[in-house]
Parts: sequence; structure tokens; C-alpha cells
Amino acid sequence: MNQREIEKKWQKVWNDKKVFEPEVDGNKPKFLLTFPYPYINAFPHIGHLYTIMRVEAFTRYKKLKGFNVLFPQGWHATGSPIVNAAERVKDREEKQIKIMKDMGFDDSEMKKFENPEYWIDYFAPECEKDYRDIGLSIDWRRKFTTTSVNPHYDKFIRWQFNKLKEGGFVKKGKFPVVWCEKDNGAVGDHARVEGEGETTQEFCLFKFKRGDGSFVVSATLRPDTLMGITNVYVNPKEEYFKIETNGETWIVGNPVIEKLKRQEYEIEEKGKIFGKDLLGEDVTFPVGNIKIPILPATFLDSNYGTGIVHSVPSDSADDLIALQNIQENDKVLDEFGLDKEKVKAIKPIEIFNTPEIGGNSAQYFLDKYKVKSQNQRDLLEKIKKELYKLTFTQSTFNEKYSEFDLVGIKIEEGQEKIKNQLLKNGAINLFYELTGKVVCRCLTPSVVKIVSDQWFLDYGDENWKELAHKCLNNMKLYPEKARQQFNYVIDWLHKWACTREEGLGTRLPWDEKWLIESLSDSTIYMAYYTIAHIIQTLNPNELNDEFFDYMFKNMPYSDNIKVSKEKAEDMKKEFEYWYPVDFRNSGKDLIQNHLTFFIFNHVAIFDEKYWPKGIGANGWVTVDGEKMSKSKGNMISLRDMVKEFSADASRITILNGGESMDDPNWDSGFAKTIMSKIESFFDSFDKTTIESDRTIDRWAESELNRIIKESTEYMEDTSFRSAIQKIFFEMQNLTKWYLARTNNTPGKIFEKIRDATIIMMSPFTAHICEEYWEKYVNQGLVADAAWPEFDESKIDLEIDLFEKTIETTVKDINSVKKLSGIDKPKKVTIIISKSWKYEYFNKVKSLLVETRNIGDILKSLMNEDSLKKYGQEISKMTPKIVSTNRVPQIITSPEKEKEIFNQSLDYFKETFKCHVEIIFGDEFDNPKSNNAIPGKPAIILE
Ligand SMILES: [Zn+2]
Repeated sequence: MNQREIEKKWQKVWNDKKVFEPEVDGNKPKFLLTFPYPYINAFPHIGHLYTIMRVEAFTRYKKLKGFNVLFPQGWHATGSPIVNAAERVKDREEKQIKIMKDMGFDDSEMKKFENPEYWIDYFAPECEKDYRDIGLSIDWRRKFTTTSVNPHYDKFIRWQFNKLKEGGFVKKGKFPVVWCEKDNGAVGDHARVEGEGETTQEFCLFKFKRGDGSFVVSATLRPDTLMGITNVYVNPKEEYFKIETNGETWIVGNPVIEKLKRQEYEIEEKGKIFGKDLLGEDVTFPVGNIKIPILPATFLDSNYGTGIVHSVPSDSADDLIALQNIQENDKVLDEFGLDKEKVKAIKPIEIFNTPEIGGNSAQYFLDKYKVKSQNQRDLLEKIKKELYKLTFTQSTFNEKYSEFDLVGIKIEEGQEKIKNQLLKNGAINLFYELTGKVVCRCLTPSVVKIVSDQWFLDYGDENWKELAHKCLNNMKLYPEKARQQFNYVIDWLHKWACTREEGLGTRLPWDEKWLIESLSDSTIYMAYYTIAHIIQTLNPNELNDEFFDYMFKNMPYSDNIKVSKEKAEDMKKEFEYWYPVDFRNSGKDLIQNHLTFFIFNHVAIFDEKYWPKGIGANGWVTVDGEKMSKSKGNMISLRDMVKEFSADASRITILNGGESMDDPNWDSGFAKTIMSKIESFFDSFDKTTIESDRTIDRWAESELNRIIKESTEYMEDTSFRSAIQKIFFEMQNLTKWYLARTNNTPGKIFEKIRDATIIMMSPFTAHICEEYWEKYVNQGLVADAAWPEFDESKIDLEIDLFEKTIETTVKDINSVKKLSGIDKPKKVTIIISKSWKYEYFNKVKSLLVETRNIGDILKSLMNEDSLKKYGQEISKMTPKIVSTNRVPQIITSPEKEKEIFNQSLDYFKETFKCHVEIIFGDEFDNPKSNNAIPGKPAIILE
């Protein structure tokens, strides 16, 4: 079978029959699914495939379930990567030229790629071609690209930002941004070679006053722990700087000075002082009556914060262990002439109450993880995170915080209050660091800079956060365990710079020197899909804010709207029918920005009934067990995959590679062989069926219903790997066993198994399923079929267990064959267990519910008159049965069991090609009959 030919054939049929071009249909429930539009500066590759296949499989599944499904797709071109790449092509930069050549372009084409718009014109249709080639069920009428290149979309984004501004969500002001000193500009996520998702983080600078009025300054993320401060640490070997800022003299490490300057601190350097010269001094803090010593710490890194820290040993494991180390180290105390008595008297000060732990969480965690030394970095890092998470959400302030009015209040509720109070007193200042290393595309490490005229989305706004939580609370998440992370991100997000000066995009409508950046113009465009195919036919000049207000905000049609009422009403029907988004799926790395922005912007702009209903998040693809990377050369492009493995093989291989938020693995070996396996499985359905109602037919029906039920549950959850295991592998086992047991004369149920298999496989291997659907059913398309229903009442556990009994008996006979060396037996005797054992096992089963004490169980058994006479045997076998839990799952009667085996007599004869006899153990005087137990007969070969 030529798989690629089949694929072309069915893709044409789907296209010609407009199978995936849904229309508004009030009689049908709808389901809108989206995959984030990819950035079109390259061909799509295996990394995209997993995420998009999750949307694809779910789309086809929901369609089979009777939904009117819409899966639209657009292309993203906003931001500077394309502009930068075009610029580098213009410069014929070596690295960029290599990238172009690796993509298959020759020198004659370079000229064209100097123009950024050419990238869009070129890659949008090429990406579409690849998506079509893999058989995605996209409604291509609704495709579009972003930026001002597309004036219709440009109008929509302008409207979005006008709405955000009206609502007070966009603000202008001083703002810490990730900055490139070389480019003299902000470094957006897309413009980084390292550090995507890293952002700026606010530190509090605590100023501790010395005797001479100057301050030693430490940096902390935890202003809330101030009442537990026991000392300040400086590095005795470090040279510190005296600087004057804002009328105060500060002592800080050298690296922080440049950082402070970029953050609008005016600084004059006043000389140096060695860390060792500060040791032993007492310093004071104006709030909380704090007077503490300065102690030495050689572990301090002057590149981090100010190069000076203060210590809170009750709530920082690092601080506690450092304190213990110095208290034990007489040599160091002597070396720096410190007052030993005084240092050794320092004790952690309890400041929080933590449920089940109390006031000294640092000690608790050191004990828990048995940390003895400052050098156990991994464990200490782990503790740091765990401890912070625990105290932040669970602990409350103790009575030391009465002057803040916070006693009994949770840390997460009081932290901000303390910070604001300290700021007001002038006891602290603010300072920003990056959350992690960021390197700009120009390879310069990024820094933090405060810019004063930055437009930002104020995701830190409490009311806005509340709405976002409300939306999240009503949403289904795939998987549910992503919820914690969403909640965290909603709480943690703060101001987000939403404009840039460079790149492609939409201009900020009220301040056109700015372009809206790429994570901000991609938050509500799923609404645009609902009307995209119609809006494209309009003159963009007709589109104004009043039109979009009518469309999306339920404002009345007014004279200011230039689009005809009829047309506008048609479009509005589309929006109202298709919206909200039912499923948006993306990589888990986008939870921290895109997916959460998607929530925020929806709640800011739309009525509640249009808020998103579901989000999926998935892991990152590995290829044959290895991380995907350009340098490893394993970032297979979609087009190469399809060429090498076929579309269906690629589709099922990637979804079989993983699920939930685990990283899926692409297994080339699986991809190479899967299609021929599917083919031979589907070919095995080519059988004549008969009318029959044998036990084996009922078993097959039970199994079919069970598999449908379990597969449906997995599909609903987007647990596609588990679904594939059921639908492909378990269905195959069912089919094989059923055909063997019926000697290739299956009953009518076989056709149901066949149809259900092909339908349920079709979300994964859509093309080959159409081919076999045509062959066997020849009625309509499998894409339009109905997902099989299951009938719970047909799932018969008893019959299934009987069938397993047959299966294990066959296995047992085979192993007896091997052990006895009788390769071609003349006779097989199957001995059904003696009848007293049925009573015995039933009794043991009920006793086990109450106790596992062998003595008690034996005593109860011996109280049964009917069992007494088997006392010797019972006292021998019971301990073994209880300890290994070897109680048969199903205990019927000898008669019932014999009947089951009798029904399968032909099968046994056929399998072992000899005479087979089934007899009751009660009637067979042979010691072997004692080996039989209910559900597991004894076997004699002759
Ligand atoms: Zn740069």
C-alpha cells in the first residue's frame, strides 16, 4: 500500500468536500480549538508537531463526538526576529547565510530575503503546505498573518489596545526592562539566544546604619522576614565601595554600582573600604528596633545583589547553617578579633508560625534533608524553594509583627504591606535584577534598565488578577495538574512592557512611535478567527473601533459603522456561535507568559460568557531519547518527516511518544514500522462473519465495550498515548484472540469491532482509516462518522475472567509441555478443582476483608463443619495463600467452570491437535487433582 498516495487522495477529498470548513449551525454544539500561530521565519519542525497534533487529534475526536468543530490557523510575524534576520542576510553574515542554506536556499535567492516582508510572503504559504501535507483538519479559509502587512488584523489589534487603555489596563511609566546595552533597546523573549521567559525581579535594599551615619546595604527578596534579622554578612576579603546617592552614603560591592546607575540612581563614588574593616561593628535598622553585628562570610558573591546580605537564620536554611559554621569556628572568630561570647549567643529569632512546624522552619528543613554543610548546594537550593513556598502560603506572622498590625496574618497577604511601609519610612530602596541569565541575539548579556516612558500592561493590578483567577477557576485544564502553575503565574505576574521600538507589528494607536510587541498582540486573536474569512473581503478602511465594538462588545449597530448592517450581522453570528475558545493547546513553557496573558486579556475585554473554557499544556519533544537541538541536527522538519515516514506514521508516532506534561519522545523505530503493523491489523478484519451468540461472542462484545469506554475517557482528557495503547494495542489483542477462539469464524460483533477500531484510530492515522473505511464500510467518510458509544451493561467482568482462565490454561498447558518434554501429546486432561475448595476460597475471601492474621483465619475456617475434614491441607495452604494474596478473582462452582471449558473444547483440540478431556476433580482419583484450585485447573499430558 503506498501510504503517501493514500494521503494525497484523502487530503483532496477532505478539501473538495469541505469536511473541515464548518458553518454556523444552531442545532449542533460547537467546539473551537486553537494552536498558537507559529512564528514564520523557518519551516515547521518536529517540535511543533506534538503540540499541533494534540489539537488535531482532539479536533477530529470532538467531530466524531458530534460537535461542530473549528480549528483555524494563522501565522505570526510580529517582533524583530524577521527584521533582524533580513538585516543579517543583507550583511551576508556568515551564520545567517548558513541558516538560509541549511533551509535549502541558494545564493540567487538571498537578495529577496533582504526584505522582511518577503519572509512573510514566502513562509506563510510554505508552512500551510506542510500542515496540509500532514493532514491537519484546519479551516484554511480563516488563515491570516499578523502585523501591519495585514491591514484588517492591524485594525483589530489597534482596537484591542484602545479597549485595554480605556479599561485602565495599559499604563505608561517608569519600568524596569530587560535591556541590551549594545542595541540600546529592550530585549523581548523572541530576541534572546538565552533566557526566554526570564524577567526582572524586584529586590529590597535594606540600609543598616553604622556609627558614622553611613549605611551597609544588603539586598533581599524577603522584606517580610525583617524581624528575624540577626546579623549582616560581608566578605572580609572583598573591597567595597563608598558611594553617595540621594544624600546618603552607602557601602556596597563594586558590580552593583553600574546596575544602580541604570536604574536611575545618581551616584558619586567616595572611596573604598575592605570588608574586614567592617567586621565586629554593630549596625542599626530604623524599624523594629534592630541592632545587630557585622560578621564575616567568604561565600558571598559580589556579583549578586549588593555583595552584602543580612541573615535570618529562623527562616533561611542557608543563613542558619552559615551561622552555625561561624559559631563553631574559633579560628575565624579569633582571626577577625570578634567577640566570641557575643557571636555564640546569637540565636534564630522566631517570627512566623508554620502549621506543624512552628517557628523555626530553617532547622526543620535542615533536619529533614540531613544537611550538615554549606557545601550541600543542591539540597540547600531545594530547601530554599520548598521553604519559601511553604511559608509564603501557609505561615502567619507572630507577635513580633504587632507594630505592622500583621499578627496572625498570612505572609502572602502581609509581605507587600511591610515593603510599602519600609519604603515610606525610607528604610529601604528598590532595585531590580534579572531572574536568570539573558543573552540578546547580538550575543551581549542583557541587563536591567529603568526606562521612564514605557507602556506596560499592568498584570500586577489586584482587580485584574482576581478576574483572571475567576476565569481560571471555571476552566478545564489538560492536564489538571497545570492549574497550580497557572495560579502561581497569575499571582506573580507584574508589569509587562507591551511596546517596542523595532520590528514588525501594529503601531500603538495613540503613540505611534511604538510597536505592540509579539506577546501582547497575540492574546485575543482567537476571536478574530471567527470572522477572519469574512473580514478579509472588506475594505480595511471601513473597519473602525465602532465596528469591533459591535462585533465583540455587544454594542448596538451605529451610524459610525461603515460595514453594511447585513454583513456585520453575519459576522456577529459567527463570533457569537463559535466563541469562547474551548481548547487552546501549547507547550508548557508558555504557561508563564502567553497562556496566562491569553486569560488576562480575555477577562479585560470580553463579557464573561466569552472567557476561555479550556487550556492544554504539554512537554517538549525529545528525539530518540535526546534533547532536540540545532547542533544535534535532530530538529527534523515536518516536510522531511512526512517524506521519510509518511503523514500517518508521523502523526501517531509523536502522540504515542508521551502525554500530560511529560516530555514526549519521538521514536524513529516506531515510526518506521507502525504503518505496516496497522495495515496488517486492518487487513485481519477481512473476514466473513456469522450470526452467533457463543460465550466467546459475548466476551468479545464485553471487551469491545470496555475498550471503547476506557478509550473515550482518555480521549476526553487528551491522554492520547493511553488512548492509542487501548485502541491500537488492546483492540489488536481482542481481535487476535477472538479470531483464534472462533477458529476464524467471528460473529457479527466482529464488524462492530472493525468499525470502532477504524473510527477510533482516525484522529491519529486519519488517512489510512479513510482507506479502510472505504474498503469495509463504503459509506461516507470516517471523518464524518460517529465515535462508538459504549454500553456499560455489556461489560461483563465475569465473562472476561472466564476468558482469562482459558487463556492462562492454554499457557499452563504449554509450559507443562515444555517441562514434561511431551511435544505432541496424545491427550490433555483438564481437571476442575475439587468442590470443597470453592467453599474454602469463598470463606477465605470474606475473612480477608476483616483480618490478615493467619491464626484467626485458620480458627474461623476450622469452625466450619464442612471444612474440618480438610484441616491438614487447609493449615498447610492457607498461610501461603494469605501471604501472597493468591485468592482467585472469581469463584463460581465446579459445574459452571466445567461448562466454560466444555464450550472451549474445540479450541483446545484445535490448539493442541489431540484429544482433550475435562473432568471433575471430585470424580478423578489422581493426586494431581489436588493441585487444581477454582479458576486454575490441574493439567495432565499423555
Ligand atoms: Zn543586543
